[in-house]
Amino acid sequence: MIRVPMTDLPAQHRALKGEILARWEAILDSGAFVGGADIMSFEEAFVRSCAVPHCVAVSSGTDALCFIFRALGLGPGDEVITVANTFIATAAAISMAGGRVVFVDVEPGTFTLDPAKLGAAVTPRTRGIVPVHLFGQTAEMDAISRFAGERNLWVVEDACQAHLAEYHGRPAGSLGTAAAFSFYPAKNLGACGEAGAVVTTDPDIASMVRMLRHQGQSEKNVHQVRGTNGRCDMLQAAALLVKLGRLPDWNRRRRELAGRYRLGLGELPGVELPLEGEGRAHVYHQFVIRLEQRDEVAEALRRRGIETAVHYPVPLHRQPPYRDQAPPEGSLGVTEDCARRQLSLPIFAEMTDQQLDLVCSELEKAMADVYGRSAAKAGSVIKEPGH
Ligand SMILES: *Cc1c(COP(=O)(O)O)cnc(C)c1O
Repeated sequence: MIRVPMTDLPAQHRALKGEILARWEAILDSGAFVGGADIMSFEEAFVRSCAVPHCVAVSSGTDALCFIFRALGLGPGDEVITVANTFIATAAAISMAGGRVVFVDVEPGTFTLDPAKLGAAVTPRTRGIVPVHLFGQTAEMDAISRFAGERNLWVVEDACQAHLAEYHGRPAGSLGTAAAFSFYPAKNLGACGEAGAVVTTDPDIASMVRMLRHQGQSEKNVHQVRGTNGRCDMLQAAALLVKLGRLPDWNRRRRELAGRYRLGLGELPGVELPLEGEGRAHVYHQFVIRLEQRDEVAEALRRRGIETAVHYPVPLHRQPPYRDQAPPEGSLGVTEDCARRQLSLPIFAEMTDQQLDLVCSELEKAMADVYGRSAAKAGSVIKEPGH
C-alpha cells in the first residue's frame, strides 16, 4: 500500500518511452550494440553539460572512478583521502586500483568532505583527494583544490550523485583533475541499466581511460596496457541521450520540491533540514533530513505508506573491508552522527506537490507516534537544535 515511493522510474519512462524505443529499434536493426554513433553523440553532449573537453562513457560509476585512478598511476602503498559518509563504491574503486583509503570527516551542515580535516590526514604517501558531491551538492572545492595544489596532489570528483550541480557557477565535473559520473537508473540522470562516464580536462587521462575500458587497446590487436571490458553499450547511450535533454528540467523540479519540503518541514521541531553551502547549486539527488530515533520514525512512516531510505546507515570505516583503515575512535564524529540520524525522504522529478505534502503531514504524525503525543515534545529530545 505504498502511496509515496522513494523514486518512480516507470513514471519517468512513460513520458520518454516512444523516443527511447525509436532509438532502440534502429540499434536492433543495425546490430551495432557495442561502439557506434550514439556513444560518441552522448559523449559529445555530456562534455557540453559539464563544460570540459573530454568525456569517456564507461560501464558504471565504479569503473569510471577506478579507470581515473589507474590513469593517474595509482599504485600499491599510495594513499587517497576521501570520506566515509558515502556509497561504498567511492572506496571500492580506490581499492580496485590498488590504493589505500584514508578517511576524513565531513563538514557539519553540508556533510561533504571537510577541508579543515585534510591537514591531519595527509602523509608523504598521499597522492590525491576524492571529494564526494553528496546527495547532489558539490563539496567545498576551492579549499580542497587549494590544499591539493600546495602539495601537488590530484583531486578526483566523485560526481556520481551530482549531475549538473554547480559550484560558484561551474558545473560538477569541471572542478578537479577528472570526475566520475554514474548513470545507475535511480541517479538524477539514469540509464536503463548500468553505465557511467569519466570527464576530464586532461587529454592524457581521457585517452588512457579509453584504452582501459577497451582491453588496453590503442589500435586493433595492439594492447598497450592491462585493461578490461568497461565499455558503455549502445542501448544505454541511446537512452541517456534522450534523458540528458530532460535533465535540466528534472533538476529544476527537484529543487522546487526541495523548496516545498523546506516550507512544509521548516516549522517542525526536531527536524534538521539539509544545508546548502554558499555558492553550491544543489540538485537534490536525495533530500536528507536529520532527526532522533530515525529508525522508529522511518518504520512509522512505512506503516503510513511513505517510503524512506537511509544513505548510509553504516559508514565505510565500519564496513568489513575498511575496518582496518578506520581512523582513531572519535575522529569521524560528524560522519557517525550522520549514520545515526539521517533519513532520506522521497524526491524525484515526477513527484507531485500532493505526494510531497503527504510526506510532510505523515512525517509530523509519525514523529508524534514515536516521540509521544505532540511533535513539540520532540524538540526537547534534541540536545542540539537544527541550524
Ligand atoms: C552510485 C554511486 C557510485 C557508483 O556508481 P555505479 O554506477 O553504481 O557503479 C559511486 N559513488 C557514489 C557517491 C554513488 O552514489
